[in-house]
Formats: sequence, structure tokens, C-alpha cells
Amino acid sequence: MSLPPENPAPPQDQALSGRRLVSRRADGVESSGIRKIFERVQFMDDPINLSIGQAHFDVPEAVKEAAIAAIRDGFNRYTVTEGVPELNERILGRLADRYGYQGQQSLVTSGVSGGLLLGFMAALDKGDHVLLPDPYFTMYPVLAGLVDADWSGYEMYPGIPLTEAALEAALDPEGRSRLLLINSPSNPTGRVLSAEELDIVGAFARKHDLLVVSDEIYDEFVYDGPHVAAVGHVDEDRLLLLGGFSKTYGMPGWRMGYAVGPDDIIDAMRRIQQFTFVCAPSMVQLAGLAAMDVDMSAEIENYAQKRDSFYARLAGHYEFPKPGGSFYMFPELPKGATTEAFMERALERKLLIVPGKAFSARDTHFRLSFAASGEVLDRGVDALLALAEEFAEG
Ligand code: PMP
Repeated sequence: MSLPPENPAPPQDQALSGRRLVSRRADGVESSGIRKIFERVQFMDDPINLSIGQAHFDVPEAVKEAAIAAIRDGFNRYTVTEGVPELNERILGRLADRYGYQGQQSLVTSGVSGGLLLGFMAALDKGDHVLLPDPYFTMYPVLAGLVDADWSGYEMYPGIPLTEAALEAALDPEGRSRLLLINSPSNPTGRVLSAEELDIVGAFARKHDLLVVSDEIYDEFVYDGPHVAAVGHVDEDRLLLLGGFSKTYGMPGWRMGYAVGPDDIIDAMRRIQQFTFVCAPSMVQLAGLAAMDVDMSAEIENYAQKRDSFYARLAGHYEFPKPGGSFYMFPELPKGATTEAFMERALERKLLIVPGKAFSARDTHFRLSFAASGEVLDRGVDALLALAEEFAEG
């Protein structure tokens, strides 16, 4: 994607009548397809909302208490740009324990979103090229556009193994590729990358001298064995790992995440953070420290059960492999169905889902989220089965 072409010079009278207030950069940013659905929900009575991108549980009590105590204790001022040292130590310690990560530089960010923006700004110049998974999290191509980088998608549809050839096909023929983004477990597919696939990524990045940005915000939401991190498969001196608190602890509104990576990249991100976000919210940093002591395994186990039962009831009626992580599934539209017809019929049943084209150059699938109560999921399955039947009948 690139920015819209330069506007032609306005006719003389228009030039006199007023200045253009909005930048071409901002013109290139369209309202998110998910946000549009979000807006529709507000006018719907008792919708079956399977379009949600956040866990349905609330912040653990101990974490709320830590935030409240921090506020009461006057921990309300700016923190150091990189975030409080105890939290950074804890993050690096956890990554060292879990994956043998050796890097020593980390930065507390305003969500993984903040980390992604800073990472793109730190690593990319105008005209650089980025490889993104397709399907992708909606923010990635927008961020590439915001830093004036071009991008191509590499094949990541569920069920299709990641190969060197697929990455090769997305490489810029003029040698402008600088960054390869991976996201496992994935939003929107729920797919997890295997150790073998991550080895392919690591070798490819080395061969073509790319920075790998690994968005591992769903690292706790894995259901068939431990999370396979990029660490150990991608050289640490070219790996920027982004992690989060939003999904794991049900605190997406609190805006905190972290970035670890090569010293020069983290240092550049820290310098940009200093003049943009300044720091992640102070009380949330202390709450995040408390969160890291909370055992979320019961919630994750609950999501594993949701994954299993939701999948079992839909399999055979829709085409898609069982997702290994996150809280999404990405089935194909029924044969012969257009997105418009399918979405319209779904809305008639009060079912909210997100069309695949919000995440992809293709328009053949749709995203379901199982981050919902059992009651909503039951109603969702009923609606989805009825829809499958309607479209099978033609
Ligand atoms: N990456 C992915 C893959 C996501 O799904 C999301 C949230 N939907 C984010 C990043 C942003 O998360 P945060 O709240 O940490 O900014």
C-alpha cells in the first residue's frame, strides 16, 4: 500500500478559498472495519456479538487494588520514559526464564499498539518496504502507511504452512524490504506458528537482513502446548519482540505493553517515546507489576474449553482448521455466498462478525471471536448453523 497520489494543484479560486486542513497521511487512514461494526452494535437490542477483540473477563481484583493504591499513594507523575525499573526487570526476567532470552533492553509502551508505532518509526524510512502476514491485524498496514513505507502480504491463511517461497514472493524486487512482521498466535486466524515455521522466518530474515517484529500479544492464549516464541528461532540481534497486558489480564483500556529487542532499536524507540507518549500510565505500570504475580491459568483453561466446544459445533458446517491460539476463528464463507449477503443475513439474526476483507487483500473468509460468555456463544452457534443451512439451500 502507498499513500494516495499527490493531490493535483487546486484551481486558483479553491486555493484562495481555504487551506487544506487534513494531511495526505491522514487521508490514507480509513476507519477500521471492526470499528464500523462496533458502531452498529450500539443501536442493536441484545446482539450476538462475536466481533470482539478483547477477553470477556475483567481485570483481576489484586491488579485493580494495585492501581488504586498507586493512585492513592501519589504515584501519578511521569515515570522515566522506559518505564519503572522493577517492571522492566520483571519483564526481562520472565522472558529469560521462559525462553532463554538474553537481551537486556526493554521499554514499557502504551499498549502493543504503542510498541508497534514506535517500532515502525524507529526502524523504517520513507520508501522502505515491509512484509506483513495476510490475513493481518488491521493496524499493521495502516502503520506502514503512516511511516510512508510500502508493504506486501505473505500467505498466512489457516491451514497453509508458511514456506520460504511464500516469504520470497512478498519480498520487494528492488531490495527495499527492511522489516518482516510475524504475529503468533494470530489475530484474526487463531493460527500459531510452529518451531519449524519460525526457523524458516529466522533463516529468511538472516538471509535478507531484515528486522523481525514479533507481535506476541496473545502468548498466554495457546491451547495445544506451550507458546512457541520467536526467541530461539530468530537471531536476537534482529528481533523486536512485542508483548502485552491488554488481553492476558483483561485490561485493554489501561494501555500498557512492552518491547524488547536490540539495543539500538529499543534506544531509538525510547527516544521517540520521550517526545510522543512520554511514558505508559504510571499507576498502570505498578498494576502491571502486580498482574505478573496473578495466575491466569483458570481463565486460559476456560478459553481452551470455549475454543474446543465452539470449534466442535461449527466444524463440518464451515471450512476452517482448529485454531491453536488467541480467541479467533477464521472460517471460509459458505460456497457461493458473497460477504455482503452473508453479513446482511447475519445482521438479520443479530449476529455480529467481521468480514475477512477487514484483514486481508482477499474477501473470502470472516472472523469470529469466542471471547464471549457461554450464553452468547450458544446463541452464536445457533445463528451460524442456521446461516450455513440457508446458504446451502441457495
Ligand atoms: N496486536 C494484535 C495482534 C492485536 O490483536 C491487538 C489488539 N486487538 C494489538 C496488537 C493491540 O493491543 P494493545 O491493547 O496492547 O495496544
